[in-house]
Amino acid sequence: MINKERILDNFLGYVQMESESRNEENFSKVIRKELQDLGFEVYVDEAGKKAGSNTGNIIAKLKGTKDAEPILFSSHMDTVVPGKKIKPVIKDGVIYSDGTTILGGDDKAGVAAIIEAVKTMKENNIAHGPIEIVFSICEEVGLLGAKNLEYDKIEAKTAFVLDSGGEPGQIIIKAPAQDKIEVTVIGKSAHAGVAPEEGISAIQVAASAINRMKLLRIDEETTANIGMIEGGKATNIVCPEVKITAEARSLSNEKLDRQTAHMVACFKEAAKEFGVEVEINTPRSYGALNVDENDPIVNIAKKACEAIDVTPFTAASGGGSDTNILNENGIKAVNLGIGMKKCHTLEEHISIQDLENGARLVLSIIQTV
Ligand code: ZN
Ligand code: CA
Repeated sequence: MINKERILDNFLGYVQMESESRNEENFSKVIRKELQDLGFEVYVDEAGKKAGSNTGNIIAKLKGTKDAEPILFSSHMDTVVPGKKIKPVIKDGVIYSDGTTILGGDDKAGVAAIIEAVKTMKENNIAHGPIEIVFSICEEVGLLGAKNLEYDKIEAKTAFVLDSGGEPGQIIIKAPAQDKIEVTVIGKSAHAGVAPEEGISAIQVAASAINRMKLLRIDEETTANIGMIEGGKATNIVCPEVKITAEARSLSNEKLDRQTAHMVACFKEAAKEFGVEVEINTPRSYGALNVDENDPIVNIAKKACEAIDVTPFTAASGGGSDTNILNENGIKAVNLGIGMKKCHTLEEHISIQDLENGARLVLSIIQTV
């Protein structure tokens, strides 16, 4: 039923419309028009103002033709860089960029799949419940669209996000929470040759703190890493200030609380021993995604896969997505594999078959609910 040529044409058109994070408006305009033509009521929310984008999230709604619970489909409109002047190239049924940019299949493959599924649904007069769509902004720069989404405009309590690189059939039900740990150690400068005893080296304090810290693989659900350490100007100055930027992730919010507290404690202990001050911020980037294997939403996704002869399987992801934020805001959501490969690189690609399968899956979910 899915029109393979049409979804391919649309997808190739979408990726050539630039929409790097915070510049989604031009692409959004085209998508809004398509949704309106399909009979959706289309609203753009105010998230762009908070996220620093030139537009907001698209929230679109279509009335049902049968009695069913509303369902939400979501993909993000923004891409990472370099995402300008993308020239898609097809080789052996696989779509690539020309090698100088990303492809932008992350996440325009999701957008294309959702739109194609609705077109096919309409053409074939397939009965459906109420459908809501969120096309978000600024996913790639900290999930800022989803974080600032106007949740009071959304009725659905069940959402399918199309934004995972796994094979079609993959259902992401777990993803880690993440904290950033931003530390400034304030030592005391002195001439390193003339009067070193008058100084306190911020670098030594940081080293002492990091040396007592549990890092990298903490347990099967938890990781931590010191990503950046910046400071110091010259060898003849006892370093007065050092900035450390670290992260911790865990599939369990409680374990993440513990790991972050541990890292903070190490910095505080070291600072106390050396008699210096530390400034520490630990913003939570997002909470964990943790949907039960037996949740009804997983059953819907599995049934929908089986109906189109795709083998479903649940999995955990190593990173966060809009899915985490939807769940935090009371919408049960899973992230579906749509076959995009090597995302965020110049080698990004997706097969035409997977593009089509993404649309088949969305249509199948609509028919399963
Ligand atoms: Zn994505
Ligand atoms: Ca991405």
